[in-house]
Amino acid sequence: MKLDRVVLRHLQMEQKSPFSTSYGTFKTKDFILVEAIDEDGVSGWGEGVAFNVPWYTEETVKTSWHMLEDFLLPLSFESPFEHPDDLNKRFSFIRKNNMAKAAIEGAVWDLYAKRKGISLSRALGGEKKTIEVGVAIGIQKTTDELLRIIDKYVAEGYRRMKVKIKPGLDVKLIASIRKHFPTLPLMADANSAYSLADIDLLKELDQYNLMMIEQPLGSDDIIDHAELQSQIQTPICLDESILSVEDTRKALALGSCKVVNVKIGRVGGLSEAVKIHDLCKAQGVPIWCGGMLEAGVGRAHNIAITSLDNFTLPGDTAGSSHYWERDIIDPEVVVKDGLITVPDGPGIGYEVNRRMVDYYTVETKTYRGR
Ligand code: MG
Repeated sequence: MKLDRVVLRHLQMEQKSPFSTSYGTFKTKDFILVEAIDEDGVSGWGEGVAFNVPWYTEETVKTSWHMLEDFLLPLSFESPFEHPDDLNKRFSFIRKNNMAKAAIEGAVWDLYAKRKGISLSRALGGEKKTIEVGVAIGIQKTTDELLRIIDKYVAEGYRRMKVKIKPGLDVKLIASIRKHFPTLPLMADANSAYSLADIDLLKELDQYNLMMIEQPLGSDDIIDHAELQSQIQTPICLDESILSVEDTRKALALGSCKVVNVKIGRVGGLSEAVKIHDLCKAQGVPIWCGGMLEAGVGRAHNIAITSLDNFTLPGDTAGSSHYWERDIIDPEVVVKDGLITVPDGPGIGYEVNRRMVDYYTVETKTYRGR
């Protein structure tokens, strides 16, 4: 594969409703859309998942653009390559900046699958025809409002609800949800809002039969999580702490978690995500695909990776209409009875709508290989 040029676009999309976590509230989604074009004029698409503010990892839209422009794109143009994994290896001397790496690598994976005339799902080794999806609900102003929203998603058929918790909004909140929905597949995401000092409070959650608690402790921790997991029954799922297959191996060896949330951007791309899938499968550890409020291109990549067989738990990839008035792909991602059909067309299997892309674009720059 030889890249002729790469177009970076900074898009700004208004969310249908603000999303609140223990870090803050977000109404507008800024992100980088990557279009990688080969010498035959075929386009592959990738989506950067860094936010404008470094609340989730250290990366932002600006740092991603800088990494792409000054390091990752020059490396991508350097010489032709056979497979997207080769690009992953070429990037490996650059520390972290995983979301920037995943953005261009994702575009190249789409391009690779299109050139082969197969779906991205198949290129990655996926076999599922449909994937089960859940939905992540941000922090709401009142518990009644949260219950109303859960009711609506249950009616829409979502297979799992994930709610955000933080100190002061945890045990009571989960108790209220359980009272109204005793058997609902439910999990809680703390985004690192607690420490081991909160162990008694976290133990109290055991009585509510949560599917898992996600990232209760430090965003870079696997030691305290191992201690916590030894004292609570609720399975711990690691999110922020897992940046690579090596991190996954260490966390599993220590017993820091029983479930892993795989986010393509956080782990540096689809090649690394497949490695994490394979390791967890070999160790009998269930995984699922987390969300970063993606627009259509990122959503399509999530669907493709989730088609691999060890993604046994419903992910965060809800339908487009859950987030956007109008997404940037055709058709939009649709959830029916809690399921998304994995597209079987070439590459990501959705058409990028250039008119909508232009509408949301605030900055564009084209980079050319030599
Ligand atoms: Mg999370």
